[in-house]
Amino acid sequence: MQITTTLTSNPTDDARLAEILANPGFGTNFTDHMFTVEWTPAEGWHNARITPYGPITLDPAAAVLHYAQEIFEGMKAYRHDDGSVWLFRPEANAERMVRSTERLALPALPVEDFVQAVDALVEVDQRWVPANDEGGEKSLYIRPFMFASEKFLGVRPAEHVTFMVIASPAGAYFKGGAKPVNLWLTEEYTRAGRGGMGAAKTGGNYASSLVAQREAYAKGCDQVVFLDAEEGKYVEELGGMNMYFVYDDGSIVTPETGTILEGITRASIIEILGKMGYQVTERKFGIDEWRADVTSGRITEIFACGTAAVVTPVGSLKTADGDSPAPASTELTMKVRAALVDTQFGRAEDTFGWMHKSV
Ligand SMILES: *Cc1c(COP(=O)(O)O)cnc(C)c1O
Repeated sequence: MQITTTLTSNPTDDARLAEILANPGFGTNFTDHMFTVEWTPAEGWHNARITPYGPITLDPAAAVLHYAQEIFEGMKAYRHDDGSVWLFRPEANAERMVRSTERLALPALPVEDFVQAVDALVEVDQRWVPANDEGGEKSLYIRPFMFASEKFLGVRPAEHVTFMVIASPAGAYFKGGAKPVNLWLTEEYTRAGRGGMGAAKTGGNYASSLVAQREAYAKGCDQVVFLDAEEGKYVEELGGMNMYFVYDDGSIVTPETGTILEGITRASIIEILGKMGYQVTERKFGIDEWRADVTSGRITEIFACGTAAVVTPVGSLKTADGDSPAPASTELTMKVRAALVDTQFGRAEDTFGWMHKSV
């Protein structure tokens, strides 16, 4: 892919950048540039470019605004102590985006073009990657996304599609870092049904989760837990994170229902736990098992995982008919978190060959 680059004539000055990187928050400040490439049936992917960051122009009839033909990815760039900048398993994000394109009838972007686009933006905006910090909380969050930009209100897959990459320095996703999050169980709303889009990373899944997330906040909880749509019995995931359950006999379960989003963090943790000597079982996991086994003490830890918040211990579960207490421990959770973060920041040997050098 040939990328043309137009640098901004007005880069963020050093003092302002230092201020942002000192306290980046999440998803509020964006780097000086962005990547764009467009697709049509006749031309394929064309006009790949890096330009100054800024608003884009869309026709009011652009299909994405009406029919939500849109997908995205989330990944991070990490600065190592020697100043170099690395991505974590970028090919896995690229491959998942290809799977999402298939479900949303969008054109596939080749894996190597996806990785090249991310590398190119990280290189241009490398001064936006925060310095390595001990807690592993600071990085450059990268948001690749693809949407139907065709001006057409007919209902069919769009014939003009845009793929972009933007980036935003990120600190802790949850205020308070790795302190346990309390969850609200929604039994009214589901996020994905059989044959639906649950396994695709698409904005529509988030749109349908917001009302349940708002309910969670109203109940004084941090996040919402979704159950399967068919029976309302099995734990799926949180709005944007997968889940793990740790038992006192060393067994570990992570839900698999066919309608969850297959997190790259989730998959990586299966391998990390395997190396630590634990066997992870992927199976349907009943909400009744959660309640009974936390109460009896057989479940010793629960954690949630995803790129944005890494690994976060889960505390109590609030439901319409009573609460379940927080599990007793966070010991293995914090070990898994450290193993992941140490690999990402180059403090531990990359035994799985997951890291990709950008700059
Ligand atoms: C992105 C996402 C996750 C986490 O995936 P990672 O690849 O680990 O970041 C989990 N659930 C949903 C719904 C998501 O969109």
